[in-house]
Amino acid sequence: MRPLVTLIGAGPGDPELLTLKAARALGAADVVLVDALVNRGCLAHARPGARIIEVGKRGGCKSTPQAFIEKLLILYAKEKKNVVRLKGGDPFVFGRGGEEVEALRAQGIDVEVIPGITAGTAVPAALGIPVTHRALARGVTFVTGHSNDGTEPDWRALARSGMTLVIYMGLKNLERIRSALQRAGLDPATPACIVENGTQHGQKQQVATLGTLSGAGFRGPALIVVGDVVRFARSASAELDARAA
Ligand code: SAH
Repeated sequence: MRPLVTLIGAGPGDPELLTLKAARALGAADVVLVDALVNRGCLAHARPGARIIEVGKRGGCKSTPQAFIEKLLILYAKEKKNVVRLKGGDPFVFGRGGEEVEALRAQGIDVEVIPGITAGTAVPAALGIPVTHRALARGVTFVTGHSNDGTEPDWRALARSGMTLVIYMGLKNLERIRSALQRAGLDPATPACIVENGTQHGQKQQVATLGTLSGAGFRGPALIVVGDVVRFARSASAELDARAA
């Protein structure tokens, strides 16, 4: 039997949003490598005695280098341990899951992927925002607001797409993103929100407009959602209510 690693998405935060399949696989693991973003409540499904290794990675904080994480996965898998790699949200949505799969396969290690609920849909949904409400959006685009290589998403095209924009890792660049979207013609009155720690204790949100959204007081992890669908947000701000009246 070839060595195997199970790559699991832990969902957006609330441990109850972990799938049944993920909980079962966690319960069978000898070793669990877990990211900082994962709510520790998810580890309640690991068996007592399982080795839990924190390989945290948070924007700007000290983190375990990706190559080292991959080395550990390979090492434990080759020891025929039952290895689980637990990542926030879905492992393939801005999660570097693809890189880990490549590294493991290159070593002859099989990878089973258990999808997770990505923050991009779950966090807006928890606020009551239907990201593809058909009267208000043609679709939804997941985009990163953070770039490693200095390149930017094509904000011009996105501003004109008629899509709800769900921006991951965009908090630090909020001002840049906002002005790029406005320069591209997106109305500053477009509803927009920031949600930090969505679906978890400590969830915090600001519902405003593209023109007035402010990152002050947010530390992340946070999503920015831009589009008319944000009007549905349960705690829509007085500003949006006044506009609708
Ligand atoms: N694989 C993850 C995303 C990893 S990138 C997923 O599918 O959800 C990390 C970014 O995801 C954060 O910077 C933030 O933008 C977003 N994010 C993840 N969990 C979040 C949460 N509970 N609330 C708000 N944003 C979250």
